[in-house]
Amino acid sequence: MTDAADGARWRAWVLTLFPEMFPGPLRHSLAGTALEKGLWALETVDIRAFAGDKHRTVDDAPFGGGAGMVMRPDVVDAALRFARGRCGGAGPLIYLSPRGRLLTQERVKALAGEREVILLCGRFEGVDQRVLDAHEVEELSVGDYVLSGGEPAAVALIDACVRLLPGVVGRRESLDEESFEEGLLEYPHYTRPNLWQGRAVPEVLVSGNHAAIRAWRRKQAEDITRERRADLWARYVAAAGRDKEQKQRVD
Ligand code: SAH
Repeated sequence: MTDAADGARWRAWVLTLFPEMFPGPLRHSLAGTALEKGLWALETVDIRAFAGDKHRTVDDAPFGGGAGMVMRPDVVDAALRFARGRCGGAGPLIYLSPRGRLLTQERVKALAGEREVILLCGRFEGVDQRVLDAHEVEELSVGDYVLSGGEPAAVALIDACVRLLPGVVGRRESLDEESFEEGLLEYPHYTRPNLWQGRAVPEVLVSGNHAAIRAWRRKQAEDITRERRADLWARYVAAAGRDKEQKQRVD
């Protein structure tokens, strides 16, 4: 741990059987620069180091039969206790899991506001249920598909949190207009050249009329959300209705 990282505002503890996978992609670009500057810190805990036997066994066959192996509760428990003891705080304990609640930008924001988070990465068929129950672990999923391990999911979660930390993204406004910020997907972007392979950029964007640009972008964001994500659209419409009602009551 570097001196700079010692004072980091945000720290991720990653419990994994593959500590060498970290920082991995998080070493680069935005997250990597911020890591170097000590704006956040990363601690990996090698779960295998907590195996009790000389073969360092971390998994066993599932009770009830079936394919695959299950991570042992005693080994995972020892790793979790170690991490909890080291970080001392009451930061959330998260198990990356396809059965978890879907990770949303809202949850990401809340997690970025914590001082530390502990992330448990599963492998094989997953982790013995009893250790998840005993530690009251929160389960989070990065999508409705199955990864071979929790590590890529942990990288996604950390990346999403780190870019929200103060000082990581240069211009705060670039965060304010993003997808999900107002419950909408983002409008499309264009840059030079103005004409590319016969395709011109939408005229309004080069009009210099900022009110018209704002209105165009809002309309695009609404259209894209309505077309692509009925779930987000329904929530957006309901929230807009509530706002209107509230405003009417105030007036
Ligand atoms: N047998 C499990 C899948 C295990 S995949 C099932 O059917 O639900 C192995 C590990 O990968 C899991 O323990 C979990 O930590 C991780 N993982 C897989 N898919 C994930 C997802 N969508 N989100 C978060 N973690 C995931």
